[in-house]
Amino acid sequence: MSLVVVGSMAFDAIETPFGKTDKILGGAATYISLASSYFVEPVKAISVVGNDFEQRDIAMLEDHGVDMEGVQVKKDEKSFFWSGRYHNDMNSRDTLVTELNVLGTFDPIVPDSYQDCSYLMLGNLSPDVQRLVVERLKNRPKLVVMDTMNFWMDVALDSLHDTLKLIDVLVINDEEARQLSGEYSLKKAAQKIMAMGPKYLVIKKGEHGALLFHQHEVFSAPGLPLEEVFDPTGAGDTFAGGFIGYLALTDDISFNNMKRAIIFGSALASFCVEKFGPEKLINLPQEEVDARIQQFVALSHFDLGVEA
Ligand code: AMP
Repeated sequence: MSLVVVGSMAFDAIETPFGKTDKILGGAATYISLASSYFVEPVKAISVVGNDFEQRDIAMLEDHGVDMEGVQVKKDEKSFFWSGRYHNDMNSRDTLVTELNVLGTFDPIVPDSYQDCSYLMLGNLSPDVQRLVVERLKNRPKLVVMDTMNFWMDVALDSLHDTLKLIDVLVINDEEARQLSGEYSLKKAAQKIMAMGPKYLVIKKGEHGALLFHQHEVFSAPGLPLEEVFDPTGAGDTFAGGFIGYLALTDDISFNNMKRAIIFGSALASFCVEKFGPEKLINLPQEEVDARIQQFVALSHFDLGVEA
């Protein structure tokens, strides 16, 4: 099923306890598109970059089956730049710099060839732009999934609320869920956030896994204990890309299938953190993806030991 992804394509500079990078490829749409390319081809991207964006990065995304027709290149402007520093626990970080550059005036174009979109992933971006993309699609997609972050809660809360009314699934982390709802309990937070619009809510808890809420049901996916975590940047986007990619592949948006989609998203995200930037997501062998899914199955499978 056709999948459209909108989000930032960017340069990131990252500091973790294990090292520091100069400007490297980043951006929500970059991570989402790479992750969902393991399930769907083409992944139709909508974004904007400046004249500094590397041709080799565009070629790499195209090699991954990402359709770049909806990615505008602004000849006289700079790409979005974000810089962050992780704390020692690697679960939390401080944003050091957010330079919107081309994103500040982004007017998303939805090419005609994207109008068949059944699955729409609204990656992290201004909620105004996310809403414009929904409005510019002639038909409402079968499923609209949205990511956002505390930055937009701080600077564009009213607009964020307007966009939340249009979507089906919101994917955010625990800290963001608490900020958006004003509730510490994630269960209470989920009820408040679902009352804002989304029928489903995924709360990511970093290395501790993710929760899926729908009405009064909740499903918990584990985090896979990893030997090496170098850089969590993009893990949330990669999770979202794997989640919607799997749903688009299977074309089944039931709660049960969303449980599987959460595991596929978690598996892809577990690769992302093993190297700096999106490196590990490039040309990942399918056998490695399959093996990691099996690790997730083994991690949380148990039986009660009592014959029915
Ligand atoms: P994640 O670690 O999944 O939260 O995503 C990190 C990615 O989000 C980085 O590659 C950044 O370029 C991108 N990003 C950070 N802040 C923003 C923002 N305000 N708008 C859009 N993208 C952002």
